Amino acid sequence: MEQLCPRCHEQQVHKSATSNVGRHAGLIGLLIANSAASYNCPTCGKIPLVEFPEEFQSGIKRKRIFSVLGAVGVVVLLIALLFARELM
Ligand SMILES: [Zn+2]
Repeated sequence: MEQLCPRCHEQQVHKSATSNVGRHAGLIGLLIANSAASYNCPTCGKIPLVEFPEEFQSGIKRKRIFSVLGAVGVVVLLIALLFARELM
């Protein structure tokens, strides 16, 4: 998702790199790192999410909900597989 900086309206913001932390902490850590990620403008520096337009914020919130639902789905699937194995 590309978004212009809400301060200078010139540069595009980039999600700050948190992927290394997530890789070490596993899937759940990755989700936490994702939801805690901040955005950086090359000229203005770190920009809190509240400064972005409502549309951008709701887009990110929707993404977070989907990633949380995805993680819950994976966990449920794993538990179901474990139970299926024990029954056999
Ligand atoms: Zn900027």
